[in-house]
Amino acid sequence: MSTPNSGTSPPSEARKLPRADRLLEAADRAGLVRRLGHGAVMEAVRAALERLRAEILAGAACPAPEAIERDLLERLESAARGSLRPVINATGVVVHTNLGRAPLSEETIDAMRRAAAGYTNLEYDLEAGERGDRYGHAEAPLCRLTGAEAAVVVNNNASAVMLALAALMPARPTGDSPAEGAPEVVVSRGQLVEIGGGFRIPDVLRRSGATLVEVGTTNRTYRRDYEDAIGPRTRILMSVHRSNFRVQGFVHDPSLEDLVSLGRERDLWVVDDLGSGTLLATAPHGLGVEPTVQERVRAGADLVCFSGDKLLGGPQAGILVGRREAIRRVKRHPLMRALRVDKVTLAGLSATLAHYERGEALEAIPVWRAISAPAQALRERAERWRAALGDAGAACAVLPGQSAVGGGSLPEVTIPTSVLALPPGDPHALLARLRRCDPPVIARIEEDRVVLDPRTVLPGEDEPLVRCLVEALGRSGR
Ligand SMILES: *Cc1c(COP(=O)(O)O)cnc(C)c1O
Repeated sequence: MSTPNSGTSPPSEARKLPRADRLLEAADRAGLVRRLGHGAVMEAVRAALERLRAEILAGAACPAPEAIERDLLERLESAARGSLRPVINATGVVVHTNLGRAPLSEETIDAMRRAAAGYTNLEYDLEAGERGDRYGHAEAPLCRLTGAEAAVVVNNNASAVMLALAALMPARPTGDSPAEGAPEVVVSRGQLVEIGGGFRIPDVLRRSGATLVEVGTTNRTYRRDYEDAIGPRTRILMSVHRSNFRVQGFVHDPSLEDLVSLGRERDLWVVDDLGSGTLLATAPHGLGVEPTVQERVRAGADLVCFSGDKLLGGPQAGILVGRREAIRRVKRHPLMRALRVDKVTLAGLSATLAHYERGEALEAIPVWRAISAPAQALRERAERWRAALGDAGAACAVLPGQSAVGGGSLPEVTIPTSVLALPPGDPHALLARLRRCDPPVIARIEEDRVVLDPRTVLPGEDEPLVRCLVEALGRSGR
């Protein structure tokens, strides 16, 4: 093989490049033209040759034809697997936003499959044989589960919050003639949070056409602060779950009950952005006390907004529950049409809600199964992985660790777990090797070692996980 300064000129090196049709043939023999289509393969072949030509012009030697072919086929294989791929979540973060949040229950997946495969009565009333209410499908179970008078489902919680504000903004429930200027929403300074992905509550408030009136201080806000801020243009009192951060020490927020009583006195709407929104009590699982959706509804908020794919454990959705008149305004708002969900989401959400109705959420919903996994089962699973690694397992250790709920829910709350710690070395390089497996395994680093948490590894993923570990550790197991 020639090297940059062995006397060959770039033009003569470039002549050694394989012809495009030979590479195309190689891709065809590997079945990749059939899988990806002729156009995509040709584009990859041209891009590969162009890249090599540029490298040669910069002085590099032409690689061997076999190496060029192997590299191309690897790239095409990876393209054939698609851009959005299943991964194994060994991070121990249960609702991992970067990894797509909640994995769904079997029944939820079945329901979504059935809805996707054919026609449905999405907007068709089967009794009357005429157009029906597409928003009605998940409403009855949501009302039964939360105690709300009415409910509606939209694309995600960010949409739910935006819509709640937009729908309640223009006129007061009494229909008073609006005072001059933009209507106002009163929020505590301590709750003006950025949720992640750049979703900032203050921005959303302003975009919905409201003037934001901040009251109180970062750590302490009292009922009288809201009271003092209410003027002729005030329309909404808002409460926002801090979600991904926690204020410690001297902290005070008025209770939602306080806001509701103030809202009733002054004829104002009360909107609660609950964020994660759990239907189950969190304390029994060592997660501290989180308000449930039912409690927020009972406190009397006109609208409570929460996510479908955080602690609820269903498909991506934003859920609004609350008083009939407030939900009626949401359904009638023009934005509703832009933010509505499709039949597949509605089918999946209904199936997830059915787990709660049947009292089987802890066992059936993957998010809750992960949260409630017994400590001993987690330790035994980590031990089984270690045993399956054979010789490579000897340098690994099963250690106590901490899982997190994630998804902007319950910050700093961790649940004790057991992790498999991989041998010390270059942990970043090892993480990268784990990511190159098929399916990729996503792990994290703890005290300079790569650790894998069984809590978030789904049933049935043990075998591919161990296979990836064997590959990444560079030794054969067993
Ligand atoms: C997560 C969260 C949101 C955004 O919800 P998405 O479902 O991600 O759109 C809004 N508000 C709070 C308080 C949250 O925790």
